[in-house]
Amino acid sequence: MAQHEFLSSSVARELLAGQDWCPFIPVFGAPSVMFVRGEGTELWDVNGKRYLDFLCGIAVTSLGHSNKAVARAISRQADTLLHVSNFFSNPVATEAAMLINGLMRVAGAGEGQVFFCNSGAEANEAAIKLARKFGGRGRHVVVSALGSFHGRTLGALAATGQPAKHEPFQPMPEGFRHVSYGDVDAVVAAIDQTVAAVLLEPIQGEGGVIPAPDGYLQQVAAVCRERGVLLMVDEVQTGFARTGKWFGFEHSGVSPDVVMFAKALGNGMPVGALWARRDVAEVFSPGDHGSTYSGTAIATAAVIAVINEMMALDAPARAREAERWIRSELADCEHVDHIRGNGLLLGVVLAKGLDSKSVYTASLEAGLVVNAVSADTIRMAPPLNVSRSEVAEACAILKRVMAQVADDGSKGDV
Ligand SMILES: *Cc1c(COP(=O)(O)O)cnc(C)c1O
Repeated sequence: MAQHEFLSSSVARELLAGQDWCPFIPVFGAPSVMFVRGEGTELWDVNGKRYLDFLCGIAVTSLGHSNKAVARAISRQADTLLHVSNFFSNPVATEAAMLINGLMRVAGAGEGQVFFCNSGAEANEAAIKLARKFGGRGRHVVVSALGSFHGRTLGALAATGQPAKHEPFQPMPEGFRHVSYGDVDAVVAAIDQTVAAVLLEPIQGEGGVIPAPDGYLQQVAAVCRERGVLLMVDEVQTGFARTGKWFGFEHSGVSPDVVMFAKALGNGMPVGALWARRDVAEVFSPGDHGSTYSGTAIATAAVIAVINEMMALDAPARAREAERWIRSELADCEHVDHIRGNGLLLGVVLAKGLDSKSVYTASLEAGLVVNAVSADTIRMAPPLNVSRSEVAEACAILKRVMAQVADDGSKGDV
């Protein structure tokens, strides 16, 4: 297909015709590939080149691109009712919230309630406010982990344990404390009379695909219970079958008090959610929090379709099966040191000397979308319904690319 068939605006055509300006505020670095279409695990760029998408946005399009059930739900809802305000209710958000509550109950988290928002950062902001209201005046501190990622808005950024991301925007909001991830004693030491909640990811996604060490979440949960502090689990990246269970916290068998979702929740429709156990949720009263788009029908129609589709697929089992395929494809590859993570949130740690940026760039060139999540680690997060042959094809590309990068590197040394 010719370029102009994809592009409705003359501005975009000019951009592709070699204009060197970009219409976006430059927070994302230079745009590289422009994608115009996706189907399942496949993507096509503006030149018609095909790619395998083993990143899914960043664990967003877990059911693949242009998923029929999700697309149908969104377009039907667009023809029926897009939005009413929160002065009223709509059956779509109600059903979506009930589905999330049901999944959380089955996961052992107990009876809870949902607040819908538009992103992961907003879900974390809502959680931070809930923790502050729960703790009461003077007991408002949130303890989170170094290397964590909770979003880019000021509160979520303050919770994010990455000092370099704070630096240009100091001073950060007050009331956040960071401890090293995996260290129970550090959590114990950080909890005093001012602490309302501990906020953790079950696997640090942006931090490099770092799973919680065995026993860590259980021990932190016990400390939280003992000290009357909330355990808030950020499932924005790990939630909804990504790790081979419906929720990442299930791997450790804990029952969090508060859980945040986004990413896969809408398969690309922007939507987030805060879940809280009933006795915690009820500290919020009308007016304490809100959002114009909370529970908007078009976004929550996608949530219903995603959950139903994931249940029909048994998405957690699919993720575990495809994890085995990937691990076996890469098992005896000399360029892979080891693989971290669970289900289809995997960090492929490269052998010494291989740089993930080069592997990322060469993979993209070869038609495979992955991501360099840290200097030596490639993140893989393919759709949960990825096929055996797509896994074989992607791993073959990755192995070829790693060999080529290693080869170029050794030539450079001479
Ligand atoms: C992506 C991510 C967020 C932020 O979500 P946005 O939708 O980008 O605001 C928060 N927490 C975790 C664990 C994430 O991976």
